[in-house]
Amino acid sequence: MTQVTHYPVAIVGAGPTGLTLANLLGVYGVACVVLERNAATVHEPRAVSIDDESLRTMQAAGLVKEVMSETVAGYGSHYHSARGRCFAKVQPTEQPYGFPRRNAFRQPILEKQLSDALARFRHVTPLFEHELVSFAQDDSRVTLRVRHAGAERDITCDYLAACDGASSTVRRTLGVAMSGSTFRERWLIVDLENSPVASPHTKVFSNPARPAIALPGPHLTRRYEFMLHDHERDEDFLAPEMVQHLMETHEAAPGSRIVRTVVYTFHARLAERWSDRRVYLAGDAAHLTPPFAGQGMNAGVRDAFNIAWKLAAVTKGQFGPGLLASYEPERRDHAWSMIEFAINIGRVMAPPNRLAAFAIEWGFRALSLVPKARDYIAQMKFKPPPRFAKGFIVPDGADTRATLVGRMVPQPHVLTADQREVLLDDVLGEGFALLVRSPRAAAVVPLLQGAPWRDLGAHIVVIVDEAAAPVGVTAVREVAPNPRLAAYRDHVIVLRPDRYVAACVPVDELEKGGEAVGKLIAATF
Ligand SMILES: Cc1cc2nc3c(=O)[nH]c(=O)nc-3n(C[C@H](O)[C@H](O)[C@H](O)COP(=O)(O)OP(=O)(O)OC[C@H]3O[C@@H](n4cnc5c(N)ncnc54)[C@H](O)[C@@H]3O)c2cc1C
Repeated sequence: MTQVTHYPVAIVGAGPTGLTLANLLGVYGVACVVLERNAATVHEPRAVSIDDESLRTMQAAGLVKEVMSETVAGYGSHYHSARGRCFAKVQPTEQPYGFPRRNAFRQPILEKQLSDALARFRHVTPLFEHELVSFAQDDSRVTLRVRHAGAERDITCDYLAACDGASSTVRRTLGVAMSGSTFRERWLIVDLENSPVASPHTKVFSNPARPAIALPGPHLTRRYEFMLHDHERDEDFLAPEMVQHLMETHEAAPGSRIVRTVVYTFHARLAERWSDRRVYLAGDAAHLTPPFAGQGMNAGVRDAFNIAWKLAAVTKGQFGPGLLASYEPERRDHAWSMIEFAINIGRVMAPPNRLAAFAIEWGFRALSLVPKARDYIAQMKFKPPPRFAKGFIVPDGADTRATLVGRMVPQPHVLTADQREVLLDDVLGEGFALLVRSPRAAAVVPLLQGAPWRDLGAHIVVIVDEAAAPVGVTAVREVAPNPRLAAYRDHVIVLRPDRYVAACVPVDELEKGGEAVGKLIAATF
């Protein structure tokens, strides 16, 4: 009889979502297997823009330096009218989460980095050329039928993470439909090498006759995307003469080498359910986004960060399985707001006619006369911030736009006791953290060492200002005061491993806050 191998977590799909999840589980010390039907990670250069939240996730996975080394950090988008005049600049300079908000990268390079990094963990088993054929689940486990080299065998797991992409086998087996918007557009993608450009920024040709985008990338690469109108045929636009013509009319550098042309059809959809008992959908298996905001992969990385620590806490018995029920409520609304965000950006990039193009151009010109509006656009403040109102949090009753609860915590630069300047997360550890910001920290810290706080297994970090740090805890000083954190003077901020704020407890109400945190934990069992 063949031996069945069991893992706490099985991941199907070695795309960016599955590989990020595997690396995070590796960091958290959870044994898992990654099943990928291909022989290696993909070569298709799909995603070209990685955001600050994903870089923060790479930081948690211990890989941010490596990822940044293959990234052009901090580029913007310049929108041009059909007459060639620049009418809007989105060029964020602020770094609320510790990294530039838009960065050019190449998906195959990132996937290779993430895949190679799994070798750090003896407890993570990547199995390429292993296809999930079918699966079944009962109350205690999921049984996967896996095909490799023409033979089939079974693997079992406590939980299955379906990161198997847009046409997810797992989602289809569960009978979960994709729904949402009727949005459907075809775009011709042209990837260039040896294509130097004067400006590192994305150039958007908001020309209703031929909406197009040109995105410079690392190593002199450049990505072009051209919208096809409904009456246009794929094969006509894939013809080398047509591609050449489009390059010549859209400022491709002479001598550029065309390495790939393909027509993609983009959709805007969400899976109707993201889980079924022991099975969880993540990444493109759960949501499909047009690429205009560069958010498809980034949304999958957000899913991975959200579910990774929950799978770790549940499989280690720290929290009950009810914790996993918070995954979809926390992620779903934000995933949909990102899809809508992408569709809206697409409207500016691809106005349907000359009248709409004229209205958009002059609307933006008018807005640019108002400094606050100009700043709102330039700093990309229109990008929906990650936040949720329900899930593994203790709401504080404040407006969700004002409170830090349910939001990713800002990541300022801090000075350690030995005067090293680092990013905040570098001192938080990989699990929960209790961030104490109070002149009374010396009295507060001992109270955090009892129940229920200790059930979080949290690392205590004190942000010191005028007061001295209590002995025996990590103490840091902000390099520049962060206004979002400054509002929480005399508070304990409960940070989850994914750097979201679970609770903000005034130090005068530690007992009440502790009870609420205790109830939150108890509710997962
Ligand atoms: C032209 C284009 C431009 C884009 N630009 C951006 C951008 O700038 N920024 C951004 O964030 N996103 C962008 N995206 C979207 C991004 O590429 C996807 O959202 C991302 O690849 C999804 O990652 P994933 O891991 O969820 O799925 P995938 O990358 O599709 O990975 C799924 C994996 O699962 C494997 N698999 C499937 N079924 C099985 C099975 N039964 N058994 C074993 N293995 C299986 C597949 O082989 C595959 O490797 C772009 C997409 C396109 C097409």
